[in-house]
Amino acid sequence: MGLCRYCGRPAGLFRREHHDCAERHDQALAKIKPILEGALNDTRPADELQGQVNFIACDGLISPEELKALAQSKFTKDIERVAADHLLSQQEDERFGDLCHAFDLSPDAIGSAECTLLKARVLRGLDEGEIVKIDLDNQEVWLHGEQPVWEFTESQYFTTHTRVQYIGGSHGVSVRVAKGVYYRASSFHGEPVRTEELVEQGVGSLVVTTESMVFDSPGKAIRLPFKKILSVHAYPDAIEVLSDGINKRPAIFKVDDPSFAANLLGRLRANNEEPPTEAASLGGK
Ligand SMILES: [Zn+2]
Repeated sequence: MGLCRYCGRPAGLFRREHHDCAERHDQALAKIKPILEGALNDTRPADELQGQVNFIACDGLISPEELKALAQSKFTKDIERVAADHLLSQQEDERFGDLCHAFDLSPDAIGSAECTLLKARVLRGLDEGEIVKIDLDNQEVWLHGEQPVWEFTESQYFTTHTRVQYIGGSHGVSVRVAKGVYYRASSFHGEPVRTEELVEQGVGSLVVTTESMVFDSPGKAIRLPFKKILSVHAYPDAIEVLSDGINKRPAIFKVDDPSFAANLLGRLRANNEEPPTEAASLGGK
C-alpha cells in the first residue's frame, strides 16, 4: 500500500498522493511564494512573516523541510539579484539576517549569498573608511605589512605576449577567378601582423590589500601597488590591470567575480590617490 506523500495516510496500491492533498499543497505553495519573494521589502518583523508563512504551510501540508528549502532558494536569489543591481545597504543586510534567523537558515545553508553579503560589507566599509577583517586562505602570501581587503582564490594570472607573423604571401592573397587581373609581385610579400596572445603565468591567490594587488602562486609572485596602476578594465570573466613601470604589459587576472573586483579596485585606487598638493589645489595661480 502506497502512502500519500502529503498526509502520510494510505493512498492506494500504486498511488503516492491523494488528489485533494496535492491540490491543498499546491494552493499553499502559490500563496507562500509571493510572500517569500517580497520578504526583503516587507515591513513586518521577520518573525511575524515567518509565522504567517508557517501557518499557510502547515495548513497546506507543506513539510518544514520543504518550507526551509523554499525560503533558502528565494532569499539567496533575492540577495544575488539585489547585489547585482546596487551595493546592498546596511538595512538590507540586516533584514536578510533577520529573515535567515526567523527561517532557521544557517550561513552555510545560504552558501554563495553569504559571500555576496560579505562582499557588500567590505565595499560599504571602504566607503566609510573601515577595513572589514577577512581570513586569508593563503597564509604564505607576503603582504609587506599591508592590510588585506579581499582574496580571490584560484585566480589565474596571464600576461600578453606579442607574436609577429607574416601574413599574406602567396597563400594569403585572395585570387579572384577573372580575366585581365594582374597581381603585382609586391602583393605576395605579406605584412607583419602583431597578434597578442595570453600566456598563463600561474594559478594562485590574488590578495587585494589597502595599498596593492599581490598575486602569489607556486613559482610566480607579483605585487602591483595602486599608486603605479594606470588603468583597470573589467571583462565578464577577468580584470586587466595596466601599470606604470618596468613591466608595462597588462596583467590579466581571471577571477570569479570581476564586477566585485572592479568595485573594490575603484575604491582602493581612489583611496590611494595622492592628496592634491598645495600648488595643484591653487590651480596654478
Ligand atoms: Zn493525502
